[in-house]
Amino acid sequence: LTEDDLIRSFQAQARRLGIASGNGVVQGIGDDCAIFRPPGGRSDLVFTTDMMHEGVHFRLGESARAVGHKALTRSLSDCAAMGARPLFCTLSLAFPKEAERWAKDFYNGFSRLASVHSVIIAGGDLASTERICCDVAVCGQVPRGKAMLRSAAVAGDTIYVSGTLGKAALALESGRRFVPQARVQLGEQLRDAGVRCAMDLSDGVSSDLARLCKASGLAANLTDVPIARGATLAQALHGGEDYELLFTVPHSRGVPKGCHAIGHIMEGRAGLVLFRGEPLAPQGWDHFRSQ
Ligand SMILES: [Mg+2]
Repeated sequence: LTEDDLIRSFQAQARRLGIASGNGVVQGIGDDCAIFRPPGGRSDLVFTTDMMHEGVHFRLGESARAVGHKALTRSLSDCAAMGARPLFCTLSLAFPKEAERWAKDFYNGFSRLASVHSVIIAGGDLASTERICCDVAVCGQVPRGKAMLRSAAVAGDTIYVSGTLGKAALALESGRRFVPQARVQLGEQLRDAGVRCAMDLSDGVSSDLARLCKASGLAANLTDVPIARGATLAQALHGGEDYELLFTVPHSRGVPKGCHAIGHIMEGRAGLVLFRGEPLAPQGWDHFRSQ
């Protein structure tokens, strides 16, 4: 069982019930954000939601401010992947009564980042639990029909990443601090430059590129990846939580500075990724994969 299998079975059930799209939802389950198209509007709205659980996504010993920062970064990064400008968010937070100080520090980190991006904190929910968890939903705005999609890759496209990879994996293994930054500005810049296909790197390029290829019904040949200083090739290929953008373009003109070409999209089995000619198994983070 993998996370993607579960998502596909949930999606199939929603389709059978006739509730996978409609009511203005033009992109449902399966991309970084859902897309809602208000009738007659000039913009589409995108929605994403992300949970974090103590012991899974963070440890209690970590800085609560940094955890709050990361909680919002995950959803902002999904907005960036669509080329959307984040507008507002909701935050639901559950924590033990004695962790009130922790919760306040978490909120400091969260609200500080929200203010950097002018994201309105519009509401949420609080509960008392044994273990800390949070759920963040973000709504963003993108010009109508211009959202970048995982499914929009075309055979022959060059694949790019927005920065070096393996930073978060290296930090985790060496006990160093790494504060991920959602590439919101870059996402809008790519969208304005006409980029059609993008996603964010939350689980590692080996897993995420396979997802992009699967959504586009195509395969990819990865020839190179920019490795973060001090990181290994394995960390760069499979390490999650770098929150760089992965995108494809039919030509190399106008690709912003700091972005690296890493391979090509090609015809082939949907979701197949080759690395230097050999099949690359998706070994990035998966909540449900049996080891
Ligand atoms: Mg994503």
